[in-house]
Amino acid sequence: MKTLRLILGDQLTRTVSSLQDLNPADDVVLMVEVHDETTYVRHHKQKIVLVLTAMRHFANRLRDEAAHIDYVKLNDPSNSGSFTGELERAIKQHRPDKVVVTEPGEWRVLEMMQSWETEFGIPVEIREDDRFLASLAEFNQWAEGRKSLRMEFFYREMRRKTGWLMVGKDPEGGQWNYDASNRKKIPKNLPLPPRERFAPDETTQEVINLVKEKFGDHFGDVEPFGWAVTRPDALEALDHFIAVCLPQFGDYQDAMQTEQDFLFHSVISPYINIGLLEPREVCEAAIAAYYAEKAPLAAVEGFVRQILGWREYVRGIYWLKMPEYKETNFLDAKRPLPEFYWTAETDLHCLADTIRATKQNGYAHHIQRLMITGNFALLTGIDPDLVNEWYMIVYADAFEWVELPNTHGMALHADGGYLGSKPYAASGSYINKMSNYCASCAYSPKVKLGDGACPFNYLYWYFLIQNGDKLSKNPRMGMPYRTLAKMAPEKRNEIVENAERFLRTIGIEDRG
Ligand SMILES: Cc1cc2nc3c(=O)[nH]c(=O)nc-3n(C[C@H](O)[C@H](O)[C@H](O)COP(=O)(O)OP(=O)(O)OC[C@H]3O[C@@H](n4cnc5c(N)ncnc54)[C@H](O)[C@@H]3O)c2cc1C
Ligand code: SF4
Repeated sequence: MKTLRLILGDQLTRTVSSLQDLNPADDVVLMVEVHDETTYVRHHKQKIVLVLTAMRHFANRLRDEAAHIDYVKLNDPSNSGSFTGELERAIKQHRPDKVVVTEPGEWRVLEMMQSWETEFGIPVEIREDDRFLASLAEFNQWAEGRKSLRMEFFYREMRRKTGWLMVGKDPEGGQWNYDASNRKKIPKNLPLPPRERFAPDETTQEVINLVKEKFGDHFGDVEPFGWAVTRPDALEALDHFIAVCLPQFGDYQDAMQTEQDFLFHSVISPYINIGLLEPREVCEAAIAAYYAEKAPLAAVEGFVRQILGWREYVRGIYWLKMPEYKETNFLDAKRPLPEFYWTAETDLHCLADTIRATKQNGYAHHIQRLMITGNFALLTGIDPDLVNEWYMIVYADAFEWVELPNTHGMALHADGGYLGSKPYAASGSYINKMSNYCASCAYSPKVKLGDGACPFNYLYWYFLIQNGDKLSKNPRMGMPYRTLAKMAPEKRNEIVENAERFLRTIGIEDRG
């Protein structure tokens, strides 16, 4: 039986379900650089380079196994530019008995795949993506009948299921979660680890040139390009993280530092998301470091929780709640995205540095995404669709199944509270506590109102005032709303005046 196996750009794993029973003698593996996918949002240039060059390297690896690879480059004159068009061509050309594909990471693409069987009159088998640690059926079963879908409880189930960091039925060290010890600011003169960079080879350079030519007006710098684009290089990046950064990952997980873009983070999310690394091996490597006494429990548990907990959980939420999830706008936020999200030109230093890093690397770490760009968009009431599109564009690791719940749910509270029991809203004092940004800012986190006041300060209270009808009854928001209730009316008016003047200054006073 001849099978046509379609591999997508985020399925670059030799053991991906669609390749598991590959018969090199008969089967055809189809890989297509699809124009529609590179432009449906105007992705960061490094993200396009990463995916296309990793696809080309993966195809070469498969060719070594003598498989028949039908690889369609972006600039092939006959490339129709869409999955459906290229699949139709390949079916006519290779005359397979069936098509096999692994389920995609996006609702829109799944819907497209589900139409192919009828459209082409050939069996299309859509297989489960078993690179995840929880199947969607398991997640749905866990979620069923629960009033509240808290990540922490899902994570504990996953710890029990995998047996990772468990001693019998109990968590290693007696606690499930060591987050409380993972909140240190970077001390002065702390040596920061060097990062692994991978010089582009000929294939990558060819793709860089292609991206410069075709997508020169997309967001972000294309060079210097230092991402790993093969599995051996991604494994090297993982080894480097485990040996050099993991021991201090926990301590400084929430810290931010001017022009220090990676700190002790792993910077491997793009590799896991496109399939160069598997979540299981990444967690196992961290756990092995703990048992070899090379990294403390708080760091290893914190790291494993991000992958075994958060990563699996947001995927479960995405597939459970789509397609409605994308339409959510609990706080009825409608403002446009400020221009400086694209240029980094703002005198709010924390935002300028985070967006500068994002342009330069296609990367910002979690706290920058959540508490700087995300927090600012939450406090100022930016339309979730625009924020969602921005995150999809600017990060090399952005794929909808993981990006959307993090943006709509965690950062913007647009889902009304599936992901977080309260909005992650914070004033300048949080940013000052966790970073050195404020020391070189035009504003002061200590000044609350008027000239020189940090805009996050009055925007925080403005956000609470504006959303009182939706948030004041949230039990976890009781304290700030009690403080607000005691505030003199003149002060509240001043907050509103300061906030609205600021929104005018940055050109987003219009609520659409
Ligand atoms: C608004 C917003 C948007 C985000 N968009 C994306 C996205 O498009 N793609 C993406 O992979 N992550 C996204 N995240 C989650 C997280 O910020 C990134 O996974 C992380 O910053 C990647 O850097 P790292 O590899 O150095 O992670 P580390 O800090 O070293 O963490 C280790 C790994 O844990 C996983 N992880 C950590 N936090 C999360 C999380 N909240 N959700 C899912 N996985 C997590 C990632 O695989 C990551 O590589 C987003 C977070 C926010 C707040
Ligand atoms: S003072 Fe405010 S705007 Fe400036 S860096 Fe600190 S938190 Fe950001």
